Amino acid sequence: MEIRLRGSIRLQTLPPYLFAELDRKKEDTEASGREVLDLGVGDPDIPTPRPIVEELRAAVLDPATHRYPSYRGSAEFREAAAAWLKKRFDIDVNPATELISVIGTKEGLFHLALAIANPGDYVLVPDPAYPVYANAARFAHATPYPLPLEPPDFLPRLDLIPDDVLEQASLMYLNYPNNPTSATATREFFRQVVEFAHKNRIAVCHDAAYSEIYFGEPPPSILEIEGAMDVAIEMHSLSKTYNMTGWRVGFACGNQDLVEALATTKTNLDSGVFVAIQRAAIKAFSLYDELTGPIRDTYRSRRDVIAAALDEAGFAFKRPDATFYVWFEIPDGFRGGSVEFAGQLLERAGVLVAPGVGFGEHGEGYCRISLTAPDDVIKRAAEKLAAYRA
Ligand SMILES: *Cc1c(COP(=O)(O)O)cnc(C)c1O
Repeated sequence: MEIRLRGSIRLQTLPPYLFAELDRKKEDTEASGREVLDLGVGDPDIPTPRPIVEELRAAVLDPATHRYPSYRGSAEFREAAAAWLKKRFDIDVNPATELISVIGTKEGLFHLALAIANPGDYVLVPDPAYPVYANAARFAHATPYPLPLEPPDFLPRLDLIPDDVLEQASLMYLNYPNNPTSATATREFFRQVVEFAHKNRIAVCHDAAYSEIYFGEPPPSILEIEGAMDVAIEMHSLSKTYNMTGWRVGFACGNQDLVEALATTKTNLDSGVFVAIQRAAIKAFSLYDELTGPIRDTYRSRRDVIAAALDEAGFAFKRPDATFYVWFEIPDGFRGGSVEFAGQLLERAGVLVAPGVGFGEHGEGYCRISLTAPDDVIKRAAEKLAAYRA
């Protein structure tokens, strides 16, 4: 007997995968014995700090961690996260009602759309962006409405969204410091967002995954803004802050109704974060000052190495103040798009970057360099980039 596998309508809403050709080029290059300096993927190369690993090791040995976790995160985890928010942003979030654990923010971001968007709704999503926002909207049978992020500040123009879209919009995603553009948002911008959300009765989900990867002023939380707790939910991840992408832990916080809707959705489809990992996360919060400084220093020096190389080769870009990405323009006069440019860079320089169009149509014309490769790879890639001539 054969199963009847038609594939769900949901899966059919997902856009086609654009990078098959580039993936093949990477494999061919490696197969031919040439080294590929991979600056394409944003996944920290540095191990998780030792004290966090040690805490996990001890926690795993305690059988109390082996049972189902609480759906919302342990009281200790939620209190530690709320205390960290207080210390870092001076915001007051009730750990009992306004904060829950998530199994990585990707999970929380995606399920939030399923929790609050309906068929026929618009979901406002930045473009270029982390692809999760638009695909979550599609899975909810809502329509992603792109908000172009353009230079110089890569902030969306809220005043350009048509009224008929605003009337049908239930949710807006934002992400600052931003992947892929590395832009940061000011408190003034967040004030405008909160006012916009109140006026149009739209929920705002701010993805703060890169809030701790900064090189100047610490970036703000949207929850610092007066009135934000009425309209906003914010996602915080330990993945980038503590080099813990594989561990799958973060938290959602903010408006109680939004947190509750997400919690109800999650209660029906997952069973929370492994208790031992929650204990390790509590350790991470407690060592925030000691552990995060050196991580920032590493990315700052890598940024400087790559920025100098891009300058030397004459690429147009803004030196990032935050995130571990550099967003640069493909050269004037290059015939082709970002996928073709990334292909050429791979062929001529052996350096792999992420084509901007992979983050949305408004990402076309750019490529993204990720600084999450070992220092020696960054150095060699910088030499190749500096010598690159279109
Ligand atoms: C890496 C990243 C995340 C973090 O995802 P986790 O699921 O917490 O590991 C979230 N948002 C953006 C934009 C990212 O780049």
